[in-house]
Amino acid sequence: MDHHNKNNILALFYQETTGQNQQKFMQHIQQCESCQEYLDTLKKTESLLNEWTDEIPLTDSFDAIMQNISPIAIRPKQLPPDFSFRPIIHIAFALAFIVISIYLAQTKISLLPFWQSLKDWWLVQAFGGFGIVIILFFCIGTFITLALTPILFLKTRQFNNAISY
Ligand SMILES: [Zn+2]
Repeated sequence: MDHHNKNNILALFYQETTGQNQQKFMQHIQQCESCQEYLDTLKKTESLLNEWTDEIPLTDSFDAIMQNISPIAIRPKQLPPDFSFRPIIHIAFALAFIVISIYLAQTKISLLPFWQSLKDWWLVQAFGGFGIVIILFFCIGTFITLALTPILFLKTRQFNNAISY
């Protein structure tokens, strides 16, 4: 069973998922034996814990427990997400789109009347028409990215929480 499914079952079991995600994953569990087994184990563990009756602790038991705990307790980590090619394909498409846009923008800009006067400017001389448009795109892109950062951050968190099979 992959890591995603384990995390999803845990979320389902502790009722941390809602709506569409939950329904989708319930459908998956119905067809997947390893997920069913894992869910079964969780249920058994919980019923075992429920049967556990409270004991009245001895007066010095807290000190005794603390003495037995090692100073560096190992905390279980959240399992890493599985590798996906999808973001790479998105980036490749985005890059192709940007390059084509820059090329089209450059051909349009070079037709504008002010381009004639810009052509003699030292920056244009140094970088060429294509270079100048690329620099322009970078400046605009930086501003857009800064403006979108809070949204992108939220999207990334949603993406990480989304269920994939
Ligand atoms: Zn499964």
